[in-house]
Amino acid sequence: MRAVLVHGGAGAPAERIDGCERAAAEAMELLESGGSALDAVEAAAVVMEDDPAYNAGTGSRPRMDGVCEMDAAVMCSDGGIGIVTLLRRVRNPVRVARLVMERTPHVALGGAGALGFARRMGFGDYDPLTERRRERLEKALGLLREGRRGDPRLLELTGPGDTIGAVALDARGGMAVANSTGGVELMLPGRIGDSPMPGAGFYCGPAGAVATTGDGESIIGRMSAIRVYRMLEEGADPAEACRAETDAYPSDVVFGVIALTPGATGTANNRTMPVASLTGE
Ligand code: ASP
Repeated sequence: MRAVLVHGGAGAPAERIDGCERAAAEAMELLESGGSALDAVEAAAVVMEDDPAYNAGTGSRPRMDGVCEMDAAVMCSDGGIGIVTLLRRVRNPVRVARLVMERTPHVALGGAGALGFARRMGFGDYDPLTERRRERLEKALGLLREGRRGDPRLLELTGPGDTIGAVALDARGGMAVANSTGGVELMLPGRIGDSPMPGAGFYCGPAGAVATTGDGESIIGRMSAIRVYRMLEEGADPAEACRAETDAYPSDVVFGVIALTPGATGTANNRTMPVASLTGE
């Protein structure tokens, strides 16, 4: 079996499916032409990072001061992990995360070191901030300055959403996960969410691949990805495992998850979440 699942963020409208579908189709094409699960999740993440509708790469949410600091990660069922955090001015953070895994003795690089590594690997200077994201930040800051903390418009502007993640299974039984995000609105400089944290935002091993999305601070506390993974190890169906972890969150905490095993796929969320899924022989 070959399979790929791509999500466009817990809290994002389900209609924002088009980018997920394009990403899943590209990933499946790679799987069908003999590509690995890692190739597939990287390709899916790149499609989503290049689509300004999503909160990853181009279109990332900026920090409070208007600068984008992005997080991304990849992990494979053979144990390989690559992570970048607080990465600025690069077009495709997920590609840098993969190179951290493949070209350095490390698992994670952050901030200025990650940027220096990216430049050495040939990634040119690129500002991922879009006009739409800049305007949203201005609006949110304006409401805050007016003291409107409980204003529904502020909640709408600042809720989680549009982060991306992908999981895939290749014909050889290899699995992989990729995450990429600009983080959340109104972040302090240096804030890191769950997306680049193994066990919290993602996990992959012989039993399956898992990617989570939503309120990063809560997800880190619960270590949601490893919880779902442990259920898969114990033989749970991915849909059942995703539902069980989602139901453990209080209703005011946004959460979503996608997962797959060598035999099945699953997803669950407690808001809305666009998810595209493709399976093949
Ligand atoms: N989990 C991401 C973070 O906290 C945000 C999201 O999934 O929308 O950075």
